[in-house]
Amino acid sequence: MNKHKKIVKNSIIIAGPCAAESREQIITSAKEAKKRKVDFMRVSLWKPRTKPGFDGLGKSGIPFLIEVVKMGINPATEVLLPSHAKAVMKAVLPVLKQGKLLLWIGSRNQNHIVQQQIAKVTSKDERVMLLVKNQPWSDEAHWEGIVEHVLSVGINKENLILCHRGFGPNGHNPLGLRNIPDYEMSMRIKMKTGLPMVFDPSHTGGLVPNVLKLAKEALNHDFDGAMVEVHPDPTNALTDAKQQLTWEQFDRMVKAYEKN
Ligand code: PEP
Ligand code: MN
Repeated sequence: MNKHKKIVKNSIIIAGPCAAESREQIITSAKEAKKRKVDFMRVSLWKPRTKPGFDGLGKSGIPFLIEVVKMGINPATEVLLPSHAKAVMKAVLPVLKQGKLLLWIGSRNQNHIVQQQIAKVTSKDERVMLLVKNQPWSDEAHWEGIVEHVLSVGINKENLILCHRGFGPNGHNPLGLRNIPDYEMSMRIKMKTGLPMVFDPSHTGGLVPNVLKLAKEALNHDFDGAMVEVHPDPTNALTDAKQQLTWEQFDRMVKAYEKN
C-alpha cells in the first residue's frame, strides 16, 4: 500500500491556535476550521511557559469552547491538572451531543501521578479523547512509561492518541529546529503500544519554514495525523508567534499531503 495515501485517508487533523487569547480570536479560528477538514480545533486554555508571560485564559475561556462546540467544531485544549479536565468536561460535555472533546497532556507535564489523575478524569466519558505528548528530553523508556502510567488507570485504548513533538536539541542542531524529531523512536512506540501516533511539526519546527518542511518530511513515516498550530494573525499571536501558520499556509500544507 502507498504509505502516503494511507496517511491522508486515516489522518487525524488537529489544527488551530497555540493559545486561546480572546473570544474574537477563537470564533474567527472556528469559522476557518469549519471550512476545512479538521477533526479537532486546538485552542489551549492553559499554556505552560518557559518564562512567566501570557499563560492562557484558563477557566474564563470555557464559555468560548462551548460556542465552538455549538458551531459544530470539536474543541481541543491542553490541561495541566485533573481539575482543569473536570472543569472543561463539566461545561462542554452537556452541549457536545455527537461530537468529541480532546484534552491533552503537554510535554512538560511529567508528574506521573498528575498524568494518571488526568487520564482517570477523561476516561469517565467515551466522548473524551486524551492525547499525550512525549516528554521534552529523549528517553524511550520514559516515553513508554508515560503511556503505561496513563493506561494503568483503565483508560480505553480507543480514547488515547500519542503525539511526537520532538526532543529538546542537545548540541548538534544544524537546521535550527526548536526540537529534534526522532521518527524511528516514535514509530517504535507506536508499534509497541498499538496506539495512533500523530506528529506536531509546529513545536518541532519552531519557525514557519521548518514547520512546512517537517510536515512534508513526516509523510515518509507512518504517522496517523498531525497537530498543527494555525492562527488568524500569527504575527500578533501572544504565544509561539514564529511557528503558527496562517490558514492559507495550512491549506497548502494539506495539499502537499494530498499530492504525495
Ligand atoms: C502546545 O501544544 O501548545 C505545547 C505547549 O506543546 P509542547 O507540550 O509539545 O511543548
Ligand atoms: Mn504552542
